[in-house]
Amino acid sequence: MNITNYQIHRLHLPLREPIGDSQVHFTDHWITAIELVCDNGLKGVGFDCQQGLPTARLTSLREQFEYALWPSLAQADPLSLAMRIQRPRGGNVGCGFRTVPIETALWDLASKQAQVPLFQLLGGTDPQVRAYGSTLDFHLNDNDFRTKLERLQRYGFSAFKIKVGHPDLSWDLKRLQLVRDVLGSDVNLMVDANEAWSVKETLKRLHAYQNAGHEIFWIEDPITREDYTGYARLCSELESTRVNTGEYLNISGKRQLLVSGAVDVLNIHNSIHEGRFAATLAGEFGVPVSLGNTLLELGVHLAASLPECLYLEYSDLIWNDLAIEPIQVEQGCAWAPLRPGHGIELDPDKLAFYAKPQ
Ligand SMILES: [Mg+2]
Repeated sequence: MNITNYQIHRLHLPLREPIGDSQVHFTDHWITAIELVCDNGLKGVGFDCQQGLPTARLTSLREQFEYALWPSLAQADPLSLAMRIQRPRGGNVGCGFRTVPIETALWDLASKQAQVPLFQLLGGTDPQVRAYGSTLDFHLNDNDFRTKLERLQRYGFSAFKIKVGHPDLSWDLKRLQLVRDVLGSDVNLMVDANEAWSVKETLKRLHAYQNAGHEIFWIEDPITREDYTGYARLCSELESTRVNTGEYLNISGKRQLLVSGAVDVLNIHNSIHEGRFAATLAGEFGVPVSLGNTLLELGVHLAASLPECLYLEYSDLIWNDLAIEPIQVEQGCAWAPLRPGHGIELDPDKLAFYAKPQ
C-alpha cells in the first residue's frame, strides 16, 4: 500500500468561549487537516492547529506541502514511514516528514491497513483512559467559569484542572473555592500556572492553597521550562502535590528533567513517536506520564497504549465538531474508538461550513 495523493483543508473555528492561561488568550482556532490517500483508496487524516493567528491561504499551504513534505511521502508505505527512525543534523533539524499532522495520518493509514484500532497497533489492550476536565478558564469571569465547570461535570470526571497564576493570590483562592462549591471535595484538583512564578512564589502559593483547605493533586508548569534546578527543588519540597511539567520541552529537555529528578509527572503531547520515546524514558525513572490536550483528542490512542498514563486532558473544544463521530468521553474516561485506524472521519458538511480557503 503506497501513498499516491493528498488533500488539504484550511479551516477556521471560532471557539465557544475564550480559552487561555496566565500568558495567552485565544478566541479562534485555525486548523489544517491533511488527508493522505493510498493506491487502494484508504485515507488517513492528521491535524495541525494554529491558535489565534490565521494560517496561510490554502494555495500557500499546498505549495509549502508540495515543497517540504510531499517528496518524502509520495509512493511511500505508511507503516514503514511511521516507524522510521531519523537522525536529522544541522539545517535538517526540525525538517522532514515527522510533523504531527503527517505522523497522525500515517498511523491512521497503518492501523487501517492492519484493520485494527490505532491503540492496538501501538500495543494497547484497553481502550479506556482516565481523563480530567480542563477548563482553560483564565479569561472567563466567575459566572462563565462556573458554567464551564458544570458543562465538564456532565462527563463524570473525578479530576479537574484550572488555571492559576493571577498576580493577585486572592483571585486564585476565590477560583479554587468556586471549584469546591460546584464540584465538592471528592475530586482531584490540579492547577496550571503556565510558568507565571518563581520557585519561592510557587511554594508560597501552594502553602496558601493548603492553608485555605485546598489539596492540590498536581501543580503544572509553575516556573520556566528549563529551570531544572528549580523543578528539582519543588519536587523535593512539595510533600503531597506532584510537579507536572515537560509540556513545553522537546525530548532532550524531558530527558534533562528526568535525570535531574525535576518532575513527578511527565507531560507528553501530540507526537506518537516522541510520546512513546518519552514515556519509555520516564518509565526508566519510575515517573508516570500524563497526556496534554491533543487535536480531536487523538492522544487517547497513545495514552491507551502506555503502561502508566495517569490522566488525559479534556477541554471539550470545538475541534471535535469536525468529526462524524468524535472520541467519546463518559464516566470520567476517554474511550479510544474500536474502528480501524484512529477512528476519526471528517464530516463533509462541517468541512464545508468551517472552510476558509482564502
Ligand atoms: Mg499546561
